[in-house]
Amino acid sequence: MLHGRILTPDGWIAGTIRFGERIETISEDSAAAAGGPCILPGFIDLHVHGAGGVDIMQGDDAGATVARHHARHGTTAMLGTTMTARESAIRHALRGLAGTIAARPPGSARMLGVHLEGPFINPARLGAQPPDVMTASLELVRALHATAPIRVLTLAPEIEGHLALIPQLAAMGILVQLGHSAGTYEDGYAALEAGAAGFTHLFNGMSALHHREPGMAGCALAHAEYAEVIPDLQHVAPGALRAAMRAIPRLYGVTDATAATGMPDGEYALGSQRVFKCRGCVRLAGGSLAGSALTMDQALRNFVAIGLDLREASDRLSRYPADYLGEYERGRLAPGAWADLVVLDDYLQPLAVFVEGEAIDIS
Ligand SMILES: [Zn+2]
Repeated sequence: MLHGRILTPDGWIAGTIRFGERIETISEDSAAAAGGPCILPGFIDLHVHGAGGVDIMQGDDAGATVARHHARHGTTAMLGTTMTARESAIRHALRGLAGTIAARPPGSARMLGVHLEGPFINPARLGAQPPDVMTASLELVRALHATAPIRVLTLAPEIEGHLALIPQLAAMGILVQLGHSAGTYEDGYAALEAGAAGFTHLFNGMSALHHREPGMAGCALAHAEYAEVIPDLQHVAPGALRAAMRAIPRLYGVTDATAATGMPDGEYALGSQRVFKCRGCVRLAGGSLAGSALTMDQALRNFVAIGLDLREASDRLSRYPADYLGEYERGRLAPGAWADLVVLDDYLQPLAVFVEGEAIDIS
C-alpha cells in the first residue's frame, strides 16, 4: 500500500494504491496523500542494448543484468535489443535472452521479448551498427523467433525483398519498424500500407525530411500513429522533438541504452564495436553517436524539462509503448493491471520501484 499523488488513466488521484502482484484498488484520500510522492506507472523501454558494462549481445545472463540495472531507474518492462551481427552471434544473444524472458529474475524489469534491430538494414545507414547486414527471409526470422519471441523487428523497407515480407512478419504478430533506412517517403508509405507499424529512433539512421524530398522522417511525420524517439536531448534537438510530438500522436521514448549506461567515462562494447562514453554521450571512434547512456527516469526529466506536463511525459514512456505492444495490463495504474510502479520525489528522482509488486532495491 502506498499513499501519494497517483496517475491513473483518468487523471491524478490523491490517495492510496493497494497492490499485490497486481493493483487491487486505488482510492481517493487526500489527507493520507498530502505531501506524498508522485506514483506513476513503471516505464516500458522497447529499445535497450545494455547497461552496467554489459551488452545483450554477450548472451547468457546478460539480459538479466541489464534488466536489473534499468529497473533501478524505474523501467519495469523492456525489450532486449540485438545488434546487427552474424547470424550465429544473434542466435547466441537470443538463446541467452530466452531464459530471462521465460522467467523474470528477482530484482529485474520484466523482459517482454526481443527487439531485433538489424541485420536487415541498409548498409548506407548503419549508424553504430557493424556492416554485417543481411537480406531478411521468412525462414530466418521464423528460426530466430523460435529461439526467443521477437516483438519488434527493425528493417529497411527499400532493400529488395523486404516490402513483400512485411505482411508475413505482421501476420506472425511482429511489429515491423522502419529504420536504419535510406528509403524515400514513397518507400516508407508503401511499407506502412503493407503493414509496418512504427519507426525506429525517429530522425536517427533514416533519410531526413527535406521539403522537396520528405524522406523516411517525413513519412513518419505525415503518417505514423506510433514511433520511437531517443529523448536524451543529444540524438534529437528539443525543437525537433516538439515538432514530432505534434505530428505523431503516440510518439514514445526509448533509451537505446548501451553497456556504458550507469558506468564511468571510458571504452565499452556495443555488439562487435568499440564505443566510447564521454560526458554522457556514447560514440564510435569516428565520433558518430552510438546508442546512449540514457535511463528512463532521465528521459522523464528531459521531457518535463522541454515543457511536457508530467502526465504526457509519463504516457510517452509507459502507456503508449504498452499499447503499441498490445500489453494493456501494463503502462497504466488501474485495478487488475500489473503492479508496475515508480515512486518519484519532487525532483522526479525515483524513491521506490515495484515490478509486478516486487520492491526493487534502488540503492
Ligand atoms: Zn539501438
